[in-house]
Amino acid sequence: MQENGQDSGAVVMADAAAGEHAAAAFHQANEAIIIADARDRILDINPAFAELTGYRREEVLGQPPEAFGLQCLAGERPLQLWQALQVDDRVKTEVSYRDCRGRIHPALLSVRRVRDAAGEVSHQVIVLADLASLTSAGRQAGREVYFDGLTGLPNLHLLTQLIHESMQQVRQQGGKLAVCALDIDHFKRINDRLGREVGDLLLSTFAHRVSHLLSGDDVLARTGGDEFVLLLHDIEGDGDFEQLLEAIRQPIVIEGQSLRVSASLGIAVYPSDEVEGDVLLRHANQAMYRAKQRGRNLYHVFDPGLDRQLRLRQERRQRLAAAMAGQELRLHYQPQVDMLGGRVIGVEALVRWQHPEEGLLAPGAFLPVTEGTSLEVELGEWVIEAALRQLQAWLDAGIALPVHVNISPAHLLSGNFPERLGNLLAGVPEVPSRLLKLEVLETAAMHDIQAALEAMRRCKVLGIDFAIDDFGTGFSSLTYLRQLPVDLIKIDQSFVRDMLTDPDDMAIVESVVYMANRFKRPMLAEGVETLDHARALLSLGCTLAQGYGIARPMPAGELPDWLEAWQGRHDWQALSRGA
Ligand code: C2E
Ligand code: CA
Ligand code: CA
Repeated sequence: MQENGQDSGAVVMADAAAGEHAAAAFHQANEAIIIADARDRILDINPAFAELTGYRREEVLGQPPEAFGLQCLAGERPLQLWQALQVDDRVKTEVSYRDCRGRIHPALLSVRRVRDAAGEVSHQVIVLADLASLTSAGRQAGREVYFDGLTGLPNLHLLTQLIHESMQQVRQQGGKLAVCALDIDHFKRINDRLGREVGDLLLSTFAHRVSHLLSGDDVLARTGGDEFVLLLHDIEGDGDFEQLLEAIRQPIVIEGQSLRVSASLGIAVYPSDEVEGDVLLRHANQAMYRAKQRGRNLYHVFDPGLDRQLRLRQERRQRLAAAMAGQELRLHYQPQVDMLGGRVIGVEALVRWQHPEEGLLAPGAFLPVTEGTSLEVELGEWVIEAALRQLQAWLDAGIALPVHVNISPAHLLSGNFPERLGNLLAGVPEVPSRLLKLEVLETAAMHDIQAALEAMRRCKVLGIDFAIDDFGTGFSSLTYLRQLPVDLIKIDQSFVRDMLTDPDDMAIVESVVYMANRFKRPMLAEGVETLDHARALLSLGCTLAQGYGIARPMPAGELPDWLEAWQGRHDWQALSRGA
């Protein structure tokens, strides 16, 4: 019953002689032939089929042809094939199939539907011609598209389809699919040292070794020079990946010399990482690069939750950059006073985001996403510029108050900070540079003391003073404090806030006051929420203060009214008289 492609319509099996001939053809054909019923169940296979695939007849009877992993290669979907069959009763296409040992081969598939006298499909004749048995030119053409020439493994092209197929299987039957990107460590070095030929030998030996570790439906593909991808279906735990790497580390003998290689493995698991096939493969590669970064010769599993978080951060950063350009950022100003005499000595500029949906956001809600990115410096410069513009406006209105600006550590150490600051100052020639003060975190300055000192010294040449912020949190040594060119020490608000109830915090405030006095540096207490705080600080010898008890941070426009009202705050004004 060989395919009869000449006439259209149904082939009707007629007399007994024809039947005999057909049976002989079926048994003696070179091509592998499957007879299936109308519902795609295998009724019979010929010896050529058993020989080609290694399956025994009993194993496949009753199964659908998909049992050998038949996959269309030409980009057609199974649905399209089926439609072609409906129209024409026959179809011919390139496929890949899996032999009984799980190896994948390319083949030409032709399907022919046979109808009975009533026009109903009685059965189907499926012919599978191994591309390897075709003329060598044709075979080459067929193989090259889907298989790697050196190792004979599926290439990226075929792998993409195999991933697709495996994901479908997981969706239908449950289970997991691990897509593992495998990259030999320092392969280039081996290649350079031993030559390309040995390199190629190593690759094929390596491929051979790894494919022996696979079982069942697992696939090994070669996607590039020393890059391989494994599709694993039965992973039980991380121990499987350890074992794989351990097996890879065993010496490989090539031309009498024993070579040791290791590999880095990146793994993405479906369906816990529920994405499209190409994205799954990209995630596996991403994880593999991470394994390389972490020191090679190890595996790294892609974490979809972490990835989502990073993407959210990225989106938030983009949104913040747009907010900066779209004038949604604002500066609020919090007054700083001398409790002895009640004089206002300056204001601290604190950034806010007037978010159209989320309302007024505090810096804690958006500054962290800028850390370590170029946006950190851009935002820092925006703040300096806005503060300088405000200084100019207040000067024009007859108010000459120093403005303190917070500088992030990375911004201060960004290399050309002093030059950029000089340029910004040059943009507002009427603003004396002594009215701009910079606050630097104690922890920041300690991170790279020499670089911090250098940047601070160059800013001081421009006439800029520094305050050291959140003092007490960074465990600075005394020697270090003496070195820093700071003109003000700000005692961290967390100690000040609780100093009245927590003896430890009180002890820290006392010792900071003591140190600042010893080194003859002015100090300012942050977080002064009540008059009781104020009195306690004064009795310790700290007179400068900032906090909710004096004023909350406010928009620039509210400052003139606050300055006037402050004169009438008799309780605070009376502090210096020992009230
Ligand atoms: P910081 O420099 O220590 O600023 C003082 C923070 O304490 C401000 O919070 C202020 O609103 C708050 N505060 C002031 N007085 C009191 C008080 O009596 N009690 C309490 N509980 N809190 C008080 P904010 O505005 O949320 O800023 C938080 C931090 O964000 C700042 O801490 C600073 O490190 C950072 N930041 C703010 N603006 C900027 C900026 O423009 N650039 C940089 N790099 N960082 C900034
Ligand atoms: Ca500050
Ligand atoms: Ca602070």
